[in-house]
Amino acid sequence: MNYDIIIIGAGPGGIFSAYELTRGEDCPRIAIFEEGHELAKRHCPIDGKNIKSCIHCPSCDIMNGFGGAGAFSDGKYNITNDFGGTLYEHIGRETALELMEYVDDINCEYGGAGTKMYSTAGTEFKKKCMQNGLTLLDASVRHLGTDINYIVLQHLYDELKDKVDFYFETPVTSVEKLEEGYRIHTAEAIYDAEVCIISVGRSGSHWMETVCEDLDIPTMSNRVDIGVRVEVPAPIFEHITDELYEGKIVYRTEKYEDNVRTFCMNPHGIVVNENTNGIVTVNGHSFEDEGKKTDNTNFALLVSKHFSEPFKDSNGYGESIARLSNMLGEGVIVQRFGDLERGRRSTVERMMESRTVPTLKATPGDLSLVLPKRILDGIIEMIYALDKIAPGMANDDTLLYGVEVKFYNMEVELDENLETCHKNLFVIGDGSGVTHSLSHASASGVYVARHILGKG
Ligand SMILES: Cc1cc2nc3c(=O)[nH]c(=O)nc-3n(C[C@H](O)[C@H](O)[C@H](O)COP(=O)(O)OP(=O)(O)OC[C@H]3O[C@@H](n4cnc5c(N)ncnc54)[C@H](O)[C@@H]3O)c2cc1C
Repeated sequence: MNYDIIIIGAGPGGIFSAYELTRGEDCPRIAIFEEGHELAKRHCPIDGKNIKSCIHCPSCDIMNGFGGAGAFSDGKYNITNDFGGTLYEHIGRETALELMEYVDDINCEYGGAGTKMYSTAGTEFKKKCMQNGLTLLDASVRHLGTDINYIVLQHLYDELKDKVDFYFETPVTSVEKLEEGYRIHTAEAIYDAEVCIISVGRSGSHWMETVCEDLDIPTMSNRVDIGVRVEVPAPIFEHITDELYEGKIVYRTEKYEDNVRTFCMNPHGIVVNENTNGIVTVNGHSFEDEGKKTDNTNFALLVSKHFSEPFKDSNGYGESIARLSNMLGEGVIVQRFGDLERGRRSTVERMMESRTVPTLKATPGDLSLVLPKRILDGIIEMIYALDKIAPGMANDDTLLYGVEVKFYNMEVELDENLETCHKNLFVIGDGSGVTHSLSHASASGVYVARHILGKG
């Protein structure tokens, strides 16, 4: 065996499993294989001048590399079982929360101390939501911010680099089961280990499907969340974001009884492109650094779509809708809410008149040509519901960027140890379909590491 443990993917799941595995005196021989670059070499070529939109790099520096999809994220670590994944279904609610708190301690130790922890506990705002047909979900959230999140990752890399063999720019092509252990194949070589932890995140979702097919691991897939990213002047949501940083609010639509929710709120943040498997969607983040704050707040409004028999390809459905927006807008489309309500597209001229200045250069267009009616109706209903608790939300100049898609990886069948039907083959983080967030993905890494060390 070349190694005791091979980890595939250096996102939060992979990093935190390696971190925990290297705590003891008898450190196992560990290798991490990562498709993307090391942290210092991760640079998205979009500079707003020479390169204005996504040029589809072979490996996306936003999604791939040390730190995974989380490296340039807003670094919001939500400590909750209410959202961010269903890890608690495997490991129990108490353990899940304990591990998320442990991850928070490590983040603080490695550079995050001094950042703010927000909490919904005891907030008056919960009542105001209830009175207006909205539900505020419970959570504590540590907001590292994109800049401090990066520093924490740098420190974690410094901690790990002498204890773990890192193979960057080395995508694993396949995983083979041996009589004892696993063999992983890369373009150049093969490596064997007793234990294999797969942590390939959302960007590795297609590859994960092939691994499950090759090794006959049962999977399930039936959910995708589709919607838009909203951008408004920051004062409209300040009473919420100052107290909670991020309000996770859910609304049940009157028309279809669908759930629409706010997601990934970024006070004074920026809207960004996201490239998943070559499809450009929209996302957002914000910085702790006062100098980098903008005048706007952005967040997603997402409608959950669950499919039943016979349809199984929920991500394919989401991708088709995102492709449609890419086809019409050559990337992300932006539309003023006033234009959407009047049934007309936004144009460059109408955007020039908008008092809300967009933070992402997107193509003015018509989202009603992209989003299915049911989803668009739900989003419009939610905008009016939010207007009751954040007046100004339904203004003509509220900007809607589309589309935002939250792909859910197919869920890999795992036991209470996050182990597949094959002994010593573990799947963690977003690639497992069990987690959808930094805190849950990181906690799943710590959990599996402790199990492997016999400390679980
Ligand atoms: C712009 C943005 C902002 C976000 N903001 C937040 C936030 O504020 N809070 C929050 O909770 N979540 C946020 N998220 C989501 C969060 O980043 C993910 O939930 C989290 O990173 C999942 O961690 P992971 O380790 O499971 O996967 P990832 O972070 O996706 O890491 C997986 C790694 O595996 C590598 N990989 C994939 N396939 C292979 C292969 N075959 N061989 C080798 N390596 C491979 C990838 O290159 C990647 O680096 C954000 C995501 C984005 C894109």
